[in-house]
Amino acid sequence: MSFVFDPAPAPSVAVAGSADRFPVRRIFCVGRNYAAHAREMGKDPDREPPFFFLKPADAVVDDGATIPYPPETANLHYEAELIVAIGKAGSDIAPEDALEYVWGYGIGLDMTRRDLQNAAKDLGRPWDWGKGFDRSAPIGPIHPVASVGHIESGRIWLAVDGTTKQDSDISKLIWPIPDVISIASRSMELRPGDLIMTGTPEGVGPVKPGQTMAVGIEGLGEITIRIGG
Ligand code: MN
Repeated sequence: MSFVFDPAPAPSVAVAGSADRFPVRRIFCVGRNYAAHAREMGKDPDREPPFFFLKPADAVVDDGATIPYPPETANLHYEAELIVAIGKAGSDIAPEDALEYVWGYGIGLDMTRRDLQNAAKDLGRPWDWGKGFDRSAPIGPIHPVASVGHIESGRIWLAVDGTTKQDSDISKLIWPIPDVISIASRSMELRPGDLIMTGTPEGVGPVKPGQTMAVGIEGLGEITIRIGG
């Protein structure tokens, strides 16, 4: 069997402390998983079960990259998020078993064309054009569970040009990681290489050409992404 043209290289993200790469299969993203962020988006955090959207696997960008300001938007937003990297296949996973499926954790950015997302919400259309555009998923090195353990709490923060914009704690997730994995696995079989963006805390806002975002999570270090221009 041969392909009619060379297939694209497998998307991947770095692995902390290793030259090996983590191959990316899909990127699941959880919407509104911190109460204060749900409120800033005009929603009641107590009434909504978690929901998901996806980004294409090839939207990943490594730590340290400069990404161009994307087309068709005048309101590009940062969303700092804890990334869960899945290392084992499973469906209908019970919450108490869910952490066995985690290969590691990383720091990510759910870059969002907020104006396109808001227009889609108003029109009852899919979020894809607001969320799943090229280079919309900067993700730092994945830290294996074997070296960092499981992340259940710890500071998560984001700064733009040195000014702190988001500052919360992983323990404030409305749906903790075992629940997120369990609920996602009821709808889709999770597979090795799947990444889950677990949601962003309050303080989302715009980033402009020439600005630099730094994102940190306690225990996972810090990543830096610059917007070109
Ligand atoms: Mn998000």
